[in-house]
Amino acid sequence: MMQPYKEIPADELDESIMLTKLLNNRIRLQLIYLLEQHEYNVTELSKILDIEQTNLSHQLSLLKTHQIISQRREGKLMYYRIDDPHIIETMTALLQHAKHVAHGKTCDGKI
Ligand SMILES: [Zn+2]
Repeated sequence: MMQPYKEIPADELDESIMLTKLLNNRIRLQLIYLLEQHEYNVTELSKILDIEQTNLSHQLSLLKTHQIISQRREGKLMYYRIDDPHIIETMTALLQHAKHVAHGKTCDGKI
């Protein structure tokens, strides 16, 4: 007999797929990693990542729409950061697992 199981609700599955799509990008992953550490404005991020501000604004807007980053206005400048614990946990687990695999090690289950 089949064991009882749970399914992911359709709307949550759709949003999860969207989130993994957002993570599937070098710039956005680096952005998330930076914004976990400190808040930055577009000019600062543009310098650090060496990408055009137009492209950067587009990426930030996508991340903001899906509540991955938050923003704070200071005068004319907008500062971005990440304060969502789920995103921080996800990134920590993702990078830790990537480290295991990249270094040819097995996972010890620690984060
Ligand atoms: Zn692992």
